[in-house]
Amino acid sequence: MNGANSSGLSNCPKTPAPFPTNWIPVLEKLAFSPHKIDFVCIGAGFSGLTLAYRWKHEGANEFINRRISEKNHDVGGTWLENRYPGNACDVPAHIYTFTFEPNPDWTSFYASGREIWQYMKRTTEKYQLDERVRLNSRVTSAIWDDAAARWKIRVDQGGKIIETEAHILINGSGILNKWHWPDIKGLSSFRGKLVLSADWDESLDWEDKRPEASKIATYIRSPTWITFNFAAQLTSDGENFEYPENDKRLWRENLGEHSKLRRHFEHEFNKFFPSYLAEGAQQAEMNKLFRQTMEQRLNHNADLCAKLIPDFGIGCRRICPGDGYLEALQEKNVRIEFCSVEEITPTGIRSCQGHEEFDIVVCATGFDVSFVPPWEMIGKNGVSLREQWKDAPYAYFGICTPNMPNYFIYNGPNCPIAHGSLILVIEWFTD
Ligand SMILES: Cc1cc2nc3c(=O)[nH]c(=O)nc-3n(C[C@H](O)[C@H](O)[C@H](O)COP(=O)(O)OP(=O)(O)OC[C@H]3O[C@@H](n4cnc5c(N)ncnc54)[C@H](O)[C@@H]3O)c2cc1C
Repeated sequence: MNGANSSGLSNCPKTPAPFPTNWIPVLEKLAFSPHKIDFVCIGAGFSGLTLAYRWKHEGANEFINRRISEKNHDVGGTWLENRYPGNACDVPAHIYTFTFEPNPDWTSFYASGREIWQYMKRTTEKYQLDERVRLNSRVTSAIWDDAAARWKIRVDQGGKIIETEAHILINGSGILNKWHWPDIKGLSSFRGKLVLSADWDESLDWEDKRPEASKIATYIRSPTWITFNFAAQLTSDGENFEYPENDKRLWRENLGEHSKLRRHFEHEFNKFFPSYLAEGAQQAEMNKLFRQTMEQRLNHNADLCAKLIPDFGIGCRRICPGDGYLEALQEKNVRIEFCSVEEITPTGIRSCQGHEEFDIVVCATGFDVSFVPPWEMIGKNGVSLREQWKDAPYAYFGICTPNMPNYFIYNGPNCPIAHGSLILVIEWFTD
């Protein structure tokens, strides 16, 4: 080829500057030269691990470079971090499962948080899902470089800052992962034991201290629907139960039967969906049923019913199956406070009811659910995602948002988190 150099590129002189305003630069390389796309995913919970499985086992490998940054010392996300007593999942275990790894051995209908984490860890090892996971790696910023068409990412690895890049950035950092101590005056002055449900202190040994707490006060600011269990119609009395060994053996030996069971559970669960449709007939029926059930469980105590039963439709907040919760609130040693905590003092709590002393204060104050990522996120033209979403978060189908090119969000704004098993939602997003 006349005038061609060894790389096959033209030796023609470059267009002399100044360039015309409509000048389009041409890349100095062959058209269709193959290159891999760089992906970075943040988080190795169910979202990141599902992605890792698809990447590794469903053929994308030869086209992409892939990495997962995980801030924790291990995989598992929610189910690694949350260790408070009684932590468990409200979705039947057989459908809170990676679809590529059914588990005939779930101990009970609803699984404990610990068993879910063990299952995730086992699955990770079996399929080598952590092959490209960098643990102890907290993403602190992601800044879009328009000229390079890449995200420039900073990662904190125990104080050492690493810089990396990606064409595609995936946020699998979890909707319920940003916890922090509540902003209550005097919190750090408390001299008793202070614990946070999302970061449970396992050295708290309350069971051995006293057989029964002499008093428990629970401060509740707003009501929520406390309901019967999800898919309770699949149990004999609405409550959790352990699977007999025979059932587990049957599902282990007969995958078809197990698959049938899981499909049946899924179908039964999904039947509840119309209850979340505002002003639908099923929602009206469920509102009535939930109200009646809560009234009954609260022994028709007018004061408790007025304060604990919501006036919003079900589905405005995720409903809370809570075996024994309303009953526990009515125990002799339990009191409910509906006024706000004004201050934590060295010895207790001050609210509008006055001051009261306590040995232990547990903050079960939830998570930052603003959808704004915990790292600095700057997109095209220097737009900050925090600023873009300061009034309300917005994302196309909950996945992509303007000014953030090649940025994909698991369980973003308006994603369907309120019903069904989130694992399937995560798998659909991955697809
Ligand atoms: C207490 C609790 C109970 C729950 N119960 C249920 C239930 O009963 N049923 C149900 O369907 N769902 C439940 N959920 C929701 C649960 O979070 C999801 O079902 C699912 O586990 C979400 O997986 P994920 O991978 O998207 O997020 P996560 O499990 O939250 O994982 C996110 C990962 O991202 C990592 N990460 C975050 N920020 C960074 C950063 N800056 N850099 C690097 N890594 C980062 C975290 O360390 C974490 O490992 C519960 C959540 C909580 C917190």
